Amino acid sequence: MRKALIAFAIGMFWSSLGWTQAKLSVRWEELTAGDFQSAIGQSRGTCLLPFGIVEKHGPHLPLGTDLLDVRYAVLRAAEQEYAVVFPEYYFGQIFEARHEPGTIAYSAHLQLELLQETTDEMARNGCKKVVIVNGHGGNENLLPFFSQTQLEKPHDYVVYFMGLVEPPPGGPAKKTSIDMHAGESETSKMMISNPNLVHLNRAQQESGADQARLKLPDTLYTAIWWYARFPNHYSGDGSAATHERGEFEMKSWQDAIVTAIRAVKADQESLKLQNEFFEKAKHPLDTRP
Ligand SMILES: [Zn+2]
Repeated sequence: MRKALIAFAIGMFWSSLGWTQAKLSVRWEELTAGDFQSAIGQSRGTCLLPFGIVEKHGPHLPLGTDLLDVRYAVLRAAEQEYAVVFPEYYFGQIFEARHEPGTIAYSAHLQLELLQETTDEMARNGCKKVVIVNGHGGNENLLPFFSQTQLEKPHDYVVYFMGLVEPPPGGPAKKTSIDMHAGESETSKMMISNPNLVHLNRAQQESGADQARLKLPDTLYTAIWWYARFPNHYSGDGSAATHERGEFEMKSWQDAIVTAIRAVKADQESLKLQNEFFEKAKHPLDTRP
């Protein structure tokens, strides 16, 4: 009995110092409801939505490459600068890979509606600052458009969008010049996030060369441009990948996300300006400069 009392007293002592309190997970789905409340407080309402896709990645990388990589970078960044990370999300724009096995391409209206309901639900749960971090080239037009549509009607939260991040100059030299999809960079990054899913010996089973089948001036955009250039849904040569290049690119991506989280946490202006704007938008004729 005396021993039990002593153990209880020691336990109380440690917990009173907060030393037995477990560190909060950054992953939304791992938190209990009670811990979620603390997590929103700790993140100051800053939540991250890593946005991937499911599509072919050459002959040698997994279908979920962009999802796996963006989550790897975001989860590590959030551990460095605390923020709550939304569960797996891959409901983006990938019509151009519908001819390849395993691609999940939802309709355009559903992409926008699902994303709006997702950010609305995040905000209803206290995420007043939602940062969408993109991991897939095909989302780079969708997501700025979605962000812009947040001015269509009032919201009590702010959507921030972080596009794909070019690695800074330097680092281990690159060997290839064409490297847009499943090539040297993406293969190198997958060597860091999920090395067991890289089948480097298959990287040259298909061609990732630019087939340049459309002859149009740069001023014209047409949706089939990607298929015209890279019909195998592969751009570059993954066999050039190295662990060192992967470490460099992944680290610079992670650093950029940390910088973004800090800037978003510090931002006191966006919501204020949004509210002012929505108020004026109700009666534009009364608006004075
Ligand atoms: Zn990719």
